[in-house]
Amino acid sequence: MTDFTMKIDAQGIATITWDCAGKSMNVLNQDAIATLDGLIDQVISDDAIKGAIITSAKPDFAAGMDLNILAKMREDAGDEPAKGLFEGTMKMHAFLRKIERAGMDPKTLKGGKPIASVLPGTALGIGLELPLATHRIFAADNPKAKIGLPEILVGIFPGAGGTTRLVRKLGAMGASQYLLEGKTVNPKAAKAAGLIDEVCDDPMTAARDWVLSATDADIVKPWDAKGYKMPGGTPYTPSGFMTFVGASAMVNGKTKGAFPAAKALLSAVYEGAQVPFDTALKIEARWFTHILMNPSSSAMIRSLFINKGALEKGAVRPAGIPDQSVKKIGVLGAGMMGAGIALVSAQAGIDVVLIDQSQEAADRGKAYTETYMDKGIKRGKATPDKKEALLNRITATTDYNALKDADLIIEAVFEDPKIKATVTQAVEAVIPDDCIFASNTSTLPISELAKASSRSENFIGIHFFSPVEKMLLVEIIKGRETGDRAVAKALDYVRQIRKTPIVVNDARFFYANRCIIPYINEGLRMIGEGVAPALIDNAARQLGFPVGPIQLVDETSIDLGAKIARATRAAMGEAYPDGAVDDVIFWMEGQGRLGRKSKAGFYDYDETGKRLGYWDGLSDKYPRLPEQPDLIEVQHRLMFVQALEAVRAIEENVLMDIREGDVGAILGWGFAPWSGGPLSWLDILGSEYAAERSDELAAKFGARFACPALLRDMADKGQSFYGRFAPKDKAA
Ligand code: NAD
Repeated sequence: MTDFTMKIDAQGIATITWDCAGKSMNVLNQDAIATLDGLIDQVISDDAIKGAIITSAKPDFAAGMDLNILAKMREDAGDEPAKGLFEGTMKMHAFLRKIERAGMDPKTLKGGKPIASVLPGTALGIGLELPLATHRIFAADNPKAKIGLPEILVGIFPGAGGTTRLVRKLGAMGASQYLLEGKTVNPKAAKAAGLIDEVCDDPMTAARDWVLSATDADIVKPWDAKGYKMPGGTPYTPSGFMTFVGASAMVNGKTKGAFPAAKALLSAVYEGAQVPFDTALKIEARWFTHILMNPSSSAMIRSLFINKGALEKGAVRPAGIPDQSVKKIGVLGAGMMGAGIALVSAQAGIDVVLIDQSQEAADRGKAYTETYMDKGIKRGKATPDKKEALLNRITATTDYNALKDADLIIEAVFEDPKIKATVTQAVEAVIPDDCIFASNTSTLPISELAKASSRSENFIGIHFFSPVEKMLLVEIIKGRETGDRAVAKALDYVRQIRKTPIVVNDARFFYANRCIIPYINEGLRMIGEGVAPALIDNAARQLGFPVGPIQLVDETSIDLGAKIARATRAAMGEAYPDGAVDDVIFWMEGQGRLGRKSKAGFYDYDETGKRLGYWDGLSDKYPRLPEQPDLIEVQHRLMFVQALEAVRAIEENVLMDIREGDVGAILGWGFAPWSGGPLSWLDILGSEYAAERSDELAAKFGARFACPALLRDMADKGQSFYGRFAPKDKAA
């Protein structure tokens, strides 16, 4: 069975229907392109055909390109992968250009056949680039449908003409949010923005009527017509000049130069805007090839597209356990985290019992959902009915009896083992025997907390990140005795609330905090050494981290850092390695500068909590080094201190699957997304260089940079992480 089939009706309209066999969404692969190419030839050459409509048999149009096509182009080209990628991309351009020209005489622009596209639902990536090459795009009025070009989010950019066409359609400014931010919108918003042409209840009929009545002029794209001027102007017009100067500044401001695809996209747009359309496509193909040849793009696609998807689909779910979808959840502790967990659970249609020590505290937790929905209503993203439905799902109470038919409990009370133990026992006295009990602790070992439970196989960690409704990652922690059903339950719950899970074994700080804390600590050490805080934070931002380590301590609060330091010091005794960090953090605590919440930390703040600049008093205590270290050294310290920790997490079997190490780092704490994650980054560096560099850092800065035995072994054998630990299920 082929993915595209064609039927010609009595009026001579050819309907080409896309229906990828065995898949819920259409994705474009090599065979499908060849089939569609043949059908388009037939449409153009067969006199009985007046025009064509390309649509989908599925509820959506298409999710994008089968990314294996890119790998295949590269492979097929043997020793010359860049040549293979460029030529493959140019073939795609020729194919889409054929649709766009539809047989017309390129001089008179006459004699072509109208080709429309009909989008029943979502159309993303190549799923929009293909329609953009047709003459008119009709979409069903489906508010759930997403339309856009999200390629930039996985480290590439639209390379099948989408970049060149959208810029010529909307102008560089108009296209920028779709190309540079990968923004997707529903059909009505897509029409308003000019991405598509029509939104209607019956797009097939509308498209047929249009095909039957289309004139020669209707099917000539503006850029193929005489006298075309790009909306907003080309770079060397007064208005265009302003746009491009502004766009360049904006891109660099947002990406800090850390994302090669954004820069390449901008170059393709800038250079392409100054030449005829077909030359612009060639320029787009060159930059697209350039970006595909950058290891960052394969690493980002692997982590953020392939492996993220695999984890969400249950790649690490224990086999043979029936569906464990949650029906009723009990959330203990209605503070910052509990309130967020209640919100996202109710959004997933789960009944929630939200418990705190007093009715007032429980109500306050529920009110979080109310405020959240009110904001959504104001911004037109929610309705009063939805708010009502959500609030009806949440019962705020102090009564544990309300938990008697819950099938999952998530505990988010104070970070105190004694309180957690009391609550665990009180809850277990009420809940059914098969109810799974999870703790949202960020620092306490799950196996220790499980000692308070009489059913430790049902006890697990479900660690959210703050703010719960925004953060995409959930870290699931297996205690020593946690059973497979508890893991399956946690994974099925995470799927219900549409987040991405990783499953790790229990150890101090699990996985995420194990890496984040050294990142923060390295920044604090540098403060102690006299490195300028602006250099530290900017070094991190230029690596693509959303916030630098010094700003991060201010955001999460200095007393929390001090509290964790004291607890860790008490637990580790003599082996505690972070005295130099504590000097800085305890001193700041002593100064009463507790971070943003006290409007005084490493930064100064105004009354509204807005950052004003770094606090001058810091250099009185920690005088600045007259000669500051170079940027790369600061960046290597910040990156290696995390990446080596990720390697140790593999050695200690905390991380059981390298995919989770990379996906978890990017989604959990924004680890340099362009790198594909810490393990992908080490692969980009190469194990040999990575081992050598960690030796150098260890000699200069201390044992925390000591090369782990695993990395040393890999360096000796010339191995990479993704070579040595290739996942068995072929998802990566
Ligand atoms: P919080 O102080 O905002 O909320 C804790 C809530 O628990 C309070 O409302 C308190 O009244 C309630 N509580 C205390 N004892 C209780 C009891 N015996 N019965 C019922 N309710 C009780 O704290 P938080 O920031 O929401 O953190 C809660 C948990 O989540 C902690 O274990 C913390 O380590 C973990 N966590 C926090 C974050 C974060 O960024 N804040 C992130 C991940 C995990």
